[in-house]
Amino acid sequence: MNKIYLALLSLGVSFSASAQSDTTMMRDIYKHALTHGQAYDDLRHLTKEIGNRIAGSPKAEQAVRWSESLMKALPFDRVYLQDVDVPYWDRGPAEKAILTESQEPLKVLALGGSVGTPKGGIEAEVIEVEYLSDLKKFGGDVYGKIVFVNKPWDESLVETGMAYGLNTSQRSRGPAEVAKLGGIAYLFRSLSSSTRDDYPHTGGTRYTQGIDSIPAMAISVVSAERLHDALQKNPKAKVFLEQQSGWKGIVPTHNVIAEWKGTEHPDQIITIGGHIDSWDVGEGAHDNGTGITGTLDAVRTLMKIGYKPKHTIRVVFYMNEENGVQGSMKYGEAAAENKETMIAAIESDAGGFAPRGFDIKASRQAVDWIQQQWKPLFEEQYWVSRFLQGSPGVDSGIWAAQFPNTVMFNFRPDPHRYFDLHHTEKDVFEAVDRRELQSGVAAIASLLYLVDSHIGEMPQ
Ligand SMILES: [Zn+2]
Repeated sequence: MNKIYLALLSLGVSFSASAQSDTTMMRDIYKHALTHGQAYDDLRHLTKEIGNRIAGSPKAEQAVRWSESLMKALPFDRVYLQDVDVPYWDRGPAEKAILTESQEPLKVLALGGSVGTPKGGIEAEVIEVEYLSDLKKFGGDVYGKIVFVNKPWDESLVETGMAYGLNTSQRSRGPAEVAKLGGIAYLFRSLSSSTRDDYPHTGGTRYTQGIDSIPAMAISVVSAERLHDALQKNPKAKVFLEQQSGWKGIVPTHNVIAEWKGTEHPDQIITIGGHIDSWDVGEGAHDNGTGITGTLDAVRTLMKIGYKPKHTIRVVFYMNEENGVQGSMKYGEAAAENKETMIAAIESDAGGFAPRGFDIKASRQAVDWIQQQWKPLFEEQYWVSRFLQGSPGVDSGIWAAQFPNTVMFNFRPDPHRYFDLHHTEKDVFEAVDRRELQSGVAAIASLLYLVDSHIGEMPQ
């Protein structure tokens, strides 16, 4: 034992990580994540070498194998693939939409899950409404027409996720409702926070195949305005639509999972991750390349600075959040079957912008406690201050039904620009800022450390 160590011991200072104060630990986490973090480089590989990766596609499976190899390069105790079957939907060749009168093209993308038009396309008059409920006024007139739901984005909301949520049900319910009234196609104004956006934003839609399947497309904001103007001038204006999308059967694929065994409570599990699949346009960079590379880098950061977790930390990359959530359903079923103890879950699926905080699914007392104990650690130095009771991420939310007592954290980066890019060709690597992404990694790693170290002190 050397003299310096003895002197430190007499001051009550220990070299062990567990005795380091939370503040010191977070300083080390931030320093490492910002200077040596690897999420950004991993993201470059995922987006540029693999690219977009809709569930069931060969590229999604390539992303699975690549993620597995990244995890195997780290000192996890176990890395494995969990079998998941997904329905594979393929867009087919580029869609066409044309204003017949002027032969002007409109920018569109088929909505995920949509069927194609009959061969050679369709041409019909258009009924424009803001809400599906407005179709009541048209009665039998919907028959044989294209229905165009043109509901503008609520620009007054800084909480863009809320603006998005206000209108997602019209995207998912639209085609089925229009089909019931005899409409032959569905055009949906893109859910975009950008008012000058000429990029269509895709997204999932739902209907019962064969019963009420009609082609459904998202139309860009600029093209929606063009169509609106044309219909103002001539309510009988026609639109031509053609697309060849459709379901291509069930494909076996995987969730990717890695476990880092806890030293004190190995059978108590903290899940961390996000979805690995993306839509089939752009590169799935913010949605959700940053979510998987960021959460993995958060765990890697704790490994690199010598932390030893008390509980088992399990990284999960879920397959097919975008078009069916089979990955998170499978994860929840398997965890319930194995009677696992899931104490907490952290999910990242809101982009890789500068971190602002976390929404928390927990009791009021627990959230109050987190605000008192943890928020001050983040707030001043790191600009992370949102710790509010709220919804979990989509994937954790799926298995929350089986594990109602799991405390769930939903990572919240700055929301201003996410829905400019979401589900479009613009969601590419270049839209992600390295410093913002790595600061998010640090915030997530800090939260993971605090959960692992102090969850026993948290009120139920
Ligand atoms: Zn997502």
